[in-house]
Amino acid sequence: MRDRLPIRREDAMKIVMLGAPGAGKGTQAKRIAEACGIPHISTGDIFRSNIKAGTELGQQAKAFMDQGALVPDEITVGMLMDRIHEADCKDGYVLDGFPRTIPQAESLTEALSRTGEAIDAAIDIEVPDEDIVLRMGGRRACLHCGATYHTCFHPPRLENICDHCGHELVLRDDDKPETVKTRLEVYHAHTYPLIAYYRAAGVLHEVDGTKNMDQVFAEIREIL
Ligand code: ADP
Ligand code: ADP
Ligand code: ZN
Repeated sequence: MRDRLPIRREDAMKIVMLGAPGAGKGTQAKRIAEACGIPHISTGDIFRSNIKAGTELGQQAKAFMDQGALVPDEITVGMLMDRIHEADCKDGYVLDGFPRTIPQAESLTEALSRTGEAIDAAIDIEVPDEDIVLRMGGRRACLHCGATYHTCFHPPRLENICDHCGHELVLRDDDKPETVKTRLEVYHAHTYPLIAYYRAAGVLHEVDGTKNMDQVFAEIREIL
């Protein structure tokens, strides 16, 4: 059984990262998490570690991920709800890759409202589609610790080896150009509407994601 925490700190910081695949959500979410001392929760990372561990959840998710499609809300929402009720989330969290659909966002809003909570900030990292293909093609991931690199923009110290844990880096199957195209279509159809959703909730902040990683983080710091 996971630790359920009925009482939350009122000043807990709950942040959602928005943006196309490859916009830099993970990169910035890790920095925010470190700066604020709160966990970085990536639904993509949770799915990938389940795939690696061969769990049933991983098997269910893999078929969708390989095609660049979204994992169904029924699977994703329950998994995320369990995660945000773990003990380390009591002071807040940065969600990276969730919500990705309006029904996911509505489930999150509803679950939080039951304890009088709400998302404090939704940070949309804006990068045009043309740049995305370049970002994803150069992305290298450590499936062991979740670290992310880029062959040009953020190379590891040793070629193809993770700086943090020494494991080999991979080009994710879903970062190959054919799949990236599908993922961008899925983004525009299902995830892009979340910008308007969080704007209407009064918590949206837009940042220019085409700048370098430090500049993007500086902009986010100003907001938070
Ligand atoms: P990226 O960082 O490139 O945006 P992620 O690691 O967040 O990619 O997600 C990889 C894949 O995992 C997605 O293409 C999708 O198949 C699945 N996935 C991750 N989060 C969600 C979610 N909230 N809802 C549905 N599918 C998800
Ligand atoms: P997302 O989580 O939105 O899919 P990532 O944070 O994984 O995006 O970034 C995608 C790729 O682009 C990675 O290889 C990362 O190193 C690189 N990247 C992230 N932010 C920038 C930036 N501001 N400029 C150039 N490359 C970046
Ligand atoms: Zn690693």
